[in-house]
Amino acid sequence: MKALKVGNLEVSPGALKKGSLGTFYREDGVAVHIPLIVINGAEDGPTLWLSAGMHGQELSGVGVIWELVNERIEPSNLHGAVIAVPFMNPFSFTGGTYFTPQDGLNLHSFFPGDPEGSLTERLANLVYEEGVKKADVVIDLHCNPENAMMFTYAFDPDDEGVGKRGYELARIFGLTTVDDAPKPPGVSADIQDAAYHLGVPSFLVELTPYYSISPQAVAVGVRGVLNVMKTLKMIEGEVEPQDEVLVIEGRLGITFGTSSRGGLVIPETSLGEAVSKGQTVGRVVDFFGDTVEEIESPVDGWMLTWPYLNQSVFSGDLVSMYVYSKD
Ligand SMILES: [Zn+2]
Repeated sequence: MKALKVGNLEVSPGALKKGSLGTFYREDGVAVHIPLIVINGAEDGPTLWLSAGMHGQELSGVGVIWELVNERIEPSNLHGAVIAVPFMNPFSFTGGTYFTPQDGLNLHSFFPGDPEGSLTERLANLVYEEGVKKADVVIDLHCNPENAMMFTYAFDPDDEGVGKRGYELARIFGLTTVDDAPKPPGVSADIQDAAYHLGVPSFLVELTPYYSISPQAVAVGVRGVLNVMKTLKMIEGEVEPQDEVLVIEGRLGITFGTSSRGGLVIPETSLGEAVSKGQTVGRVVDFFGDTVEEIESPVDGWMLTWPYLNQSVFSGDLVSMYVYSKD
């Protein structure tokens, strides 16, 4: 192993260092560093990119990274390297928002970014150049609100090579895995698409809930990442099943429903429950408690998430998400 250079760090084999992936400046001139942790293993092996905090409220992934780097991964026993960024978008965190407050953009949609662009575009480009390009595998940790199954999101396993490898690693993580095709090159997209076009296998993790660091979500995330690291032979050990959470097996697609009316969402179907196309799975009610819309499943499949906040929806809001079998 050689010394590994990332951001402002140069890390010798068998060492862990904390520093900055890059620096941006507030209006008052105060520097904001993108926090970076690099563990350079004592032995040769692949480089794993591990990120969380792309969206400001999604905190459990941050807890996953903290436990892994501070307690679970020993540099002296590691084959390869881990590049970890627990708060990819600290602006979004301090603003308590999904979007970057300064330019109103979603970092999830602007990869590979632009070094001459707005704050979000610059941030995406920094992560792309300094992180994704140096990785052999990319895992990006996100969270959903409380009423959601935990799942992973990968690319089409029929896509021999990068797509298949990323899908296989997502399955090894151990949660329900949905797959889809990557966006074409040249289109602003998420970190997974950017990795795909560099030939880097990747997947995204959706833990539950957000707004707080949940011990259960952290346990699931840590176990999943360690499963992947064991499979990549970065560490020793057996892959452990995710026994504490509901997992739907098989190849799965993902789809969603939007609301026409506004109001409060009343779910009438449990997470993971089998549903059939056209079945009423919940209702939207007005401020008097009267039903204004029945929510119908668009597929034969299973309930995946109720992605509301505060139980409220506007016309056109995402109201329910489902998985369906592709086998
Ligand atoms: Zn997210």
